[in-house]
Amino acid sequence: MRALTFHGTRDVRVDNVADPTLQHPQDILLRVTATAICGSDLHLYRGKVPGLKDGDILGHEFMGIVEEVGPGVTRLRPGDRVVVPFVIACGACFFCERNLFAACETTNDGRGAILNKKDLRPGAAMFGYTHLYGGVPGGQAEYVRVPMANTGPLPIPDALTDAQVLFLSDILPTGYQAVLNAEVQPGSSLAIFGAGPVGLMAAACARLKGAERIFMVDHHDDRLRFAADTYGVEPIHFDKVDDPARAIIEATQFRGVDASIDAVGFEAKGSTVETVLTTLKLEGSSGEALRQAIAATRRGGIVSVPGVYAGFIHAFLFGDAFDKGLQFRMGQTHVQRFMPELLEHIGNGALRPEVIVSHQLSLDDAARGYEMFDKKIDGCRKIVLTP
Ligand code: NAD
Ligand code: ZN
Ligand code: ZN
Repeated sequence: MRALTFHGTRDVRVDNVADPTLQHPQDILLRVTATAICGSDLHLYRGKVPGLKDGDILGHEFMGIVEEVGPGVTRLRPGDRVVVPFVIACGACFFCERNLFAACETTNDGRGAILNKKDLRPGAAMFGYTHLYGGVPGGQAEYVRVPMANTGPLPIPDALTDAQVLFLSDILPTGYQAVLNAEVQPGSSLAIFGAGPVGLMAAACARLKGAERIFMVDHHDDRLRFAADTYGVEPIHFDKVDDPARAIIEATQFRGVDASIDAVGFEAKGSTVETVLTTLKLEGSSGEALRQAIAATRRGGIVSVPGVYAGFIHAFLFGDAFDKGLQFRMGQTHVQRFMPELLEHIGNGALRPEVIVSHQLSLDDAARGYEMFDKKIDGCRKIVLTP
């Protein structure tokens, strides 16, 4: 089959690789009908995450048609159309029972998990995301093996198109979890750092929850304009104002917003310090977006962080956070937990995640897609690939 494979920093290629096969009774084989490129894929593409091997198949946002099911699969049959969550969870362990699917302690055997001390179990395995997270082949491919099929894949009604539901696999639940973590409610004020797909999904979900004012910070005019037109955000271009946080404070009677969402992560533009800091050879980050989020949030407010962090963050303003009595919420998304209610919101028209798609490409053009999404050129907002 054809699949997008990793060969080194900024070197991904669509190659012919062996077809996947069922390996475990709870596996299914999926024929992929649509898959997307994520900001998290860019961390791999840019060589910022250790633990990838030459030829690894990337991709953790995908959906398709069930081709084959293992003997232990009770929820699905061949021919079913499903969206697959990027987190692979067993549904039965200590964490899954608490709906903390991204912490599932049975799906990642830990062999690649150098991030964890010997006595701490690794979190859940993920598709197409380094051997630290289980090294499970991803779904930017014609076919993919989906483990734990009794917990993850969500059947989709025929009436909904692939584009409408594909983002249930990751970015829509991620934006939603960020908004729930931020405790957004009718009348809330919110600052979202990063107008990428995750920031945009957060804006959509914040509107759903009744947020009154949403500030959005980025430096791509096209993304900011889209967010202003679509979600009514107040755009702040960080190359054009001295200090985005100050602009937000001034616009909120010198209090700051009720909550901030950092939808950027450790590769925030504006990072000034680039040192190899840890034994893991993860680069430190100046955490510009996180610093701004702390500065823009009012006393007693919440900083919600869906953006991915790794390694140390320089000059983390812990004193400011303490002085303001802030709360921090963060982490990988417990995708399975939010998929059913979000599917309902899509079905009744309250959420229209497909509007953020800027490019539909063939899987064979995936390498060009990575380059466009990496450089944010040609108005690239979100790319969907079709095998
Ligand atoms: P993206 O690269 O398309 O978007 C990031 C945006 O942030 C860009 O538009 C960029 O211009 C902007 N930006 C950079 N520095 C900034 C700064 N200092 N202030 C404000 N904006 C800044 O990526 P995406 O797909 O939207 O993903 C965003 C983040 O969310 C990534 O770190 C990704 O790994 C993470 N993510 C996390 C989860 C999870 O489970 N928690 C799931 C999906 C994605
Ligand atoms: Zn993703
Ligand atoms: Zn589990």
